[in-house]
Amino acid sequence: MSVKVLKHLATKRDSKNRSIPQYLVKCECGKEWTVSAPNRTNNCKECSNRLGAEKRKTHGDHNTALYAIWRSMKARCNSPKAQSYKNYGAKGVSVCKEWNSAFEPFRDWAKTSGYVKGMHLDKDEKSKKLGFSPAVYSPDTCQWITQQANNKIELQMNTDSYEKTIVSEYERGRTITSIANQYYNGRGKSTSAKTKYIESVLKRHKVWKRIRA
Ligand SMILES: [Zn+2]
Repeated sequence: MSVKVLKHLATKRDSKNRSIPQYLVKCECGKEWTVSAPNRTNNCKECSNRLGAEKRKTHGDHNTALYAIWRSMKARCNSPKAQSYKNYGAKGVSVCKEWNSAFEPFRDWAKTSGYVKGMHLDKDEKSKKLGFSPAVYSPDTCQWITQQANNKIELQMNTDSYEKTIVSEYERGRTITSIANQYYNGRGKSTSAKTKYIESVLKRHKVWKRIRA
């Protein structure tokens, strides 16, 4: 960003008779004034002050919980070095272009979408409803939910993926007993209780009878 040179004015002479060029310049805000070195002038004084204040304000945001949410969202989607990248970026979960490029659009969306400190950013429910798979972080596919509601969703997702594993192992031809011995995760204790549970999962997914018949 720099000012626009409108006119090269008559050169001035200082007290030691050195020539000083004069330029009429114009800031983006419309203000016009005279300078001797237009290349080193970025904005008028008022605009410089205003931009500086905005920059400091943005920087102030960087200590907020919301900024931390934005930063970790980007890290788990974009940085293979991030701890949870394997469950996000590696699985194709992404951040929309707008949110990826700057914090401000995310912050502004948060302000109008019911964000309160302590809430959890959920991308799963709306992504699923809209048919985005893998899920996307964007204004259309995100919502704020309580930590409690998030725990519930995560538990459901874990259950779903656990049951999917059981079903696919069964479809590969594994016996119920062998699946029960490998995948049973603490629901009941006896072998019959384990197999009964595996059978109930298979029934719920409507694969048990189909394969047995
Ligand atoms: Zn200006």
